[in-house]
Amino acid sequence: MSLLLTGIAELTTNDPARGDGHADPGDALLGVIRDAALVVSDDGVVEWVGAADEAPDTDHRRDLGGRAVIPGFVDSHTHLVFAGDRSAEFAARMTGTPYDGGGIAVSVAATRAASDDELRALVAARVAEMRAQGTTTVEIKSGYGLTLDDELRSLRIAREVTAHTTFLGAHVVPREYASDRAAYVDLVTGPMLDAVTADGPTALAESIDVFCEPHSAHAFDGDEARTILEAGRAAGLALRVHGNQLGPGPGVRLACELGARSVDHCTFLDDADVEALAAARGATVATLLPGVEFSTRSPYPDGRALIDAGVDVALASDCNPGTCYSSSIPFAIALAVREMGMTPAEALHAATAVSARSLGLDRRIAPGQPAELAVIDAPSHLHLAYRAGVPIVRALDL
Ligand SMILES: [Zn+2]
Repeated sequence: MSLLLTGIAELTTNDPARGDGHADPGDALLGVIRDAALVVSDDGVVEWVGAADEAPDTDHRRDLGGRAVIPGFVDSHTHLVFAGDRSAEFAARMTGTPYDGGGIAVSVAATRAASDDELRALVAARVAEMRAQGTTTVEIKSGYGLTLDDELRSLRIAREVTAHTTFLGAHVVPREYASDRAAYVDLVTGPMLDAVTADGPTALAESIDVFCEPHSAHAFDGDEARTILEAGRAAGLALRVHGNQLGPGPGVRLACELGARSVDHCTFLDDADVEALAAARGATVATLLPGVEFSTRSPYPDGRALIDAGVDVALASDCNPGTCYSSSIPFAIALAVREMGMTPAEALHAATAVSARSLGLDRRIAPGQPAELAVIDAPSHLHLAYRAGVPIVRALDL
């Protein structure tokens, strides 16, 4: 039993070889097919992709009424496992209180105090909110537990909703270790990492991450970050890095040197950082998180310059309670287009194909691929940025 989807005004396949040959460079990047059709098996695998007038006969058909279909967004950077409310901190920041990473302690206290079921319900609600905005794949980090038991609990709850979990015991140095940072690094790289990988390297976490930010007294410097990442790599985890968010620093070059899948934020880069990222093309993705700059009233990273330099650029939400409590990839796309000089096609590609690659995934719409799709109440993907703030895109339930 197969389902034929028709009435697709524009299909983004993320497969340049599959596009219908339009001269527009954005369409070429996205492998766009106009007046397209799609056949999906009843176990959710794409069986056929092409022009509507060449579509095969199937048992069932569904007319999407002239809408655009895109690959579901891959949100490759989120912190969804948390409790508590930091809206007052946001309001204070908007009237001039600077952000330095210290507010994370508020979420740590609330998360530790929450029951498993409370955390589970909060995560489920956030994942549903994302799906309603077109996100079909999500990465989730721990990092608001910061004890062995609370980090494990966060990862277990995250693993219930996604395979793409990341151990972020090195989010900040918790208050109880403020006078002995080395002891906390030892805890993260020793007992915590041992427990995370006890049932197999990736049984609980796919990746390890560190907030490498010498400009925050709460985060980790380059040497500490290297120690943590090398320990994670030795334990069999993929590497991710929060780097160069609050100011220049060693995070980006460290991530490239160690072969991290992704270095995220990339807001303050010098020429050597950009050269390192360009040289790491195909291995290390620069994941830009413009919702953070919006929510902290900070300068945006230069997405245009990175793409022009040949860097693999992804977009993600960084949904978290402190610096960006937005789960919206369409919002990130609108910011990338309006504030970071990216074209609508580049922004969509960054939030699907490139963010997927940073999780080791292939997000094309092609035969044999899972039918992870989103549908837009508009004839073209251009409307994602054009109609900023309007809820026109959602995951397509088959
Ligand atoms: Zn983050």
